[in-house]
Amino acid sequence: MMQNDVVVIGGGISGLSLAYYCVQAGMKTTLLEKNESLGGSFASPQYSSNGKKFWMELGAHTCYSSYQNLLDIVEGCGVTNTIIPRAKVPFTLFVDGKIRSIVSQLNILELLVSVPNLFKLKKTGLSVRSYYSKIVGEKNYEEVIRHFFNAVPSQQTDNFPADMMFKSRPKRKDVLKNYTFQNGLQSVARAIAAKSGLNVFTSQDVNSVVYKDGLYEIRSAGGGEYSAKTLVLATPSLVTSKLLKESNPDLAQHLAKLKAADVDSVGVIVRKENSKLKPVAALISPNDVFFSVVSRDTVPDDNYRGFVFHFQPGLDEKTKRSRITEVLGIGFSKIEHTEAKHNTVPTLQLGHHQWLEKTDQLLKGKKSLLLTGNYFGGMAIEDCVSRSKSEFARMKG
Ligand SMILES: Cc1cc2nc3c(=O)[nH]c(=O)nc-3n(C[C@H](O)[C@H](O)[C@H](O)COP(=O)(O)OP(=O)(O)OC[C@H]3O[C@@H](n4cnc5c(N)ncnc54)[C@H](O)[C@@H]3O)c2cc1C
Repeated sequence: MMQNDVVVIGGGISGLSLAYYCVQAGMKTTLLEKNESLGGSFASPQYSSNGKKFWMELGAHTCYSSYQNLLDIVEGCGVTNTIIPRAKVPFTLFVDGKIRSIVSQLNILELLVSVPNLFKLKKTGLSVRSYYSKIVGEKNYEEVIRHFFNAVPSQQTDNFPADMMFKSRPKRKDVLKNYTFQNGLQSVARAIAAKSGLNVFTSQDVNSVVYKDGLYEIRSAGGGEYSAKTLVLATPSLVTSKLLKESNPDLAQHLAKLKAADVDSVGVIVRKENSKLKPVAALISPNDVFFSVVSRDTVPDDNYRGFVFHFQPGLDEKTKRSRITEVLGIGFSKIEHTEAKHNTVPTLQLGHHQWLEKTDQLLKGKKSLLLTGNYFGGMAIEDCVSRSKSEFARMKG
């Protein structure tokens, strides 16, 4: 059994960032990831044809100057020079087969009457619906704005805690306001993994965690066996709950209370000359089978365009295919390449702050068990890295 100071289960940005802090502190650290490639929701598959290369984002796509903890890691891995700007193309609505600007769909009078609430109303204790319908007006919220919110975690967000949806954080002035990376966000995952000293094993579907004689014993479906003084769980909440069932039943039960949503993401690449759609950052189509279509027009390419459809789960291939071709206005034969990815996103509900407090109580005194992920303070990349940083500090404190 391979001995470690720390074993991290889950190779998304939450697990990778915690692993990074442990390696920096000189701890022997191993990271185990179920999939063949690292990154989780950092998924930027590369397509190459006749010497022409292209990537698209099947998950996260945008970072901000306020992502200070992420930026520190990017710097630490020596890849700051791969940060690139995103082209200014609009987030738009897609209504009756046509692209419409957000402003054109808003009732301006209702907006003007409601917007002063922005200065009076606090987000704390309010749901996304109750807060934002007062800021933009009930009708504007219902018909326009809620569809943009739903597009963020690809699910209904009416009951999300308003203060966990969009956060204002201090920004770095020396960094672009919003940006991506030369080869997409997954290149950041690869850079962290390449950090010397971190052992990474992919295709390790961990299915058993046992705590014995002061050590965690971790086993994967393929027969991998690892042991560690400290265990980090950086998997979706329900996976974490299952893995803790034997060693920490109280935490397992508490984690099982959280819900998560599945997202079926399908990316298509088309030749530039075959797509007539005007450049957009994203299309949001109210009450459609997809929550959003995220385009690669934010990093324009000479040869190709990429569109990633974030579908509701459970649709058959035919339904997805026909909606893709309808929206893009092209026949399926004009699609050069397709990629698919399954993403899991947390369903945060009002009352999540109380759930978090109880989590802290249950983790008290358990310095050898660290929990990170996108279901703590929020699901933005910086929320994940901040959680990892604070869990690392709890272990060291
Ligand atoms: C479509 C989409 C778009 C987004 N866009 C943005 C954005 O633009 N900006 C932003 O800030 N945030 C964005 N987010 C949110 C953010 O990207 C995610 O919250 C974050 O990347 C999640 O990271 P994570 O490591 O917590 O989870 P994940 O990325 O889900 O990683 C968890 C990992 O655990 C692995 N795993 C699961 N079970 C096991 C097991 N049994 N054994 C071993 N490994 C296991 C999984 O394979 C996965 O790799 C987006 C999310 C999605 C889904």
